[in-house]
Amino acid sequence: MQRDDGQVVLLGKAEIDLALECQRCLQPIEQRFFADFELVLVKYERQLAAVSDEDDAIVVDDELELAPLIEQELILALPMIAKHDDCQATYDNTPAAEAERQQPFANLKDLLNK
Ligand SMILES: [Zn+2]
Repeated sequence: MQRDDGQVVLLGKAEIDLALECQRCLQPIEQRFFADFELVLVKYERQLAAVSDEDDAIVVDDELELAPLIEQELILALPMIAKHDDCQATYDNTPAAEAERQQPFANLKDLLNK
């Protein structure tokens, strides 16, 4: 399709079900990821200069290979660190963690008393 600014764009939606490992409790998370993308298609690399910085653009020679493109978009949509939204892991609220957190202040007090 052609956009108002004359650029030819590819609009797409992709979704995938993935099992990731929660970085807090190490239990698997099954989650569905969605990627919406809008890519500006150009035929020659030199045309990339005319593409706005806010757009993602790709050079398409003859045929557009959709599979790797969609894969790429989905990878970008994945979280850097996977964790449950309602993770049951509570180790970071244990008294040990509390004590650890108070350490910097204890050290500061020692420093001030010197
Ligand atoms: Zn978790």
